[in-house]
Amino acid sequence: MATIIDGKAIAARIRQEISRDVTTLKANGITPGLAVVLVGEDPASKVYVSMKEKACADVGIFSDEHKLPANTTEADLLALIDRLNNDPRIHGILVQLPLPKQINAEKVLEAISPNKDADGFHPYNVGRLMIGKPTFQPCTPYGVMVMLKETGIDLAGKEVVVVGRSNIVGKPVALMCLQQNATVTICHSRTKDLAAKVGQADVVIAAVGQPEMIKGSWIKEGAVVIDVGVNRVGEKKLVGDVEYGAAAERASAITPVPGGVGPMTITMLLYNTVESAKKR
Ligand code: NDP
Repeated sequence: MATIIDGKAIAARIRQEISRDVTTLKANGITPGLAVVLVGEDPASKVYVSMKEKACADVGIFSDEHKLPANTTEADLLALIDRLNNDPRIHGILVQLPLPKQINAEKVLEAISPNKDADGFHPYNVGRLMIGKPTFQPCTPYGVMVMLKETGIDLAGKEVVVVGRSNIVGKPVALMCLQQNATVTICHSRTKDLAAKVGQADVVIAAVGQPEMIKGSWIKEGAVVIDVGVNRVGEKKLVGDVEYGAAAERASAITPVPGGVGPMTITMLLYNTVESAKKR
């Protein structure tokens, strides 16, 4: 049976380190600040935002909340971003996606100062990631990399198969694995014979958004399985993109859902905010 990679425990350990860093920064007169902007009433977004605010409070980060009505204009949102870009109390800015239809999300993300881009979505930072320069790294893929490192998994020379090519998970995690000297294959909805591709992987990273679509029988004996997917099945149950039970019988290590990658995402947001404050 596979070792279970406990994202909650890893996240808790890193949050303790972040908390210590915040204490040191405060002793030097700097309180790290994260602005969290929520437009509208999307229920899932509201939950994410309140989780982020609580996480900030837990480690001592100042969280500056902006809850705007669903009919907010693009111009008003851009004006707020401009104020936050110039506010010295703020070291990270997060605009919760999705945004209402009247607002061009791309324009908003590009308006965030690359120096305060705690989510790592600004094209400038994406470009720096691409060429292997230090930058804000997007939180979910960054969390995956930290989990692998904390579990003692060295990617050099390994075959990594990433399933999913989104800008927020698949592509950046593939780049990060490449940076760690893995041989990386990126699969997507047009990939032929996904089972065979997955079957070659020493490390499988699933970011698809379809419940248990990666079958346990596809996993190579001894492979590491990182499941980014979060899919609601029925009223309350959450499952990943990987058929967990069957995969755990073949894998050497596997992340559960929930309690795997999920807790790492907000942790890396806190980390990015504090690192930004340190640079000031
Ligand atoms: P997207 O919907 O943006 O991307 C999904 C990707 O999966 C696409 O590249 C798509 O391919 C690919 N795909 C879809 N169907 C198939 C298929 N049958 N075979 C192979 N590839 C397929 O999703 P995200 O990247 O935003 O999120 C992925 C998952 O991760 C979701 O479950 C999401 O909830 C979860 N997530 C979890 C986070 C966390 O903190 N734990 C944070 C962010 C996301 P194509 O490009 O060809 O359409």
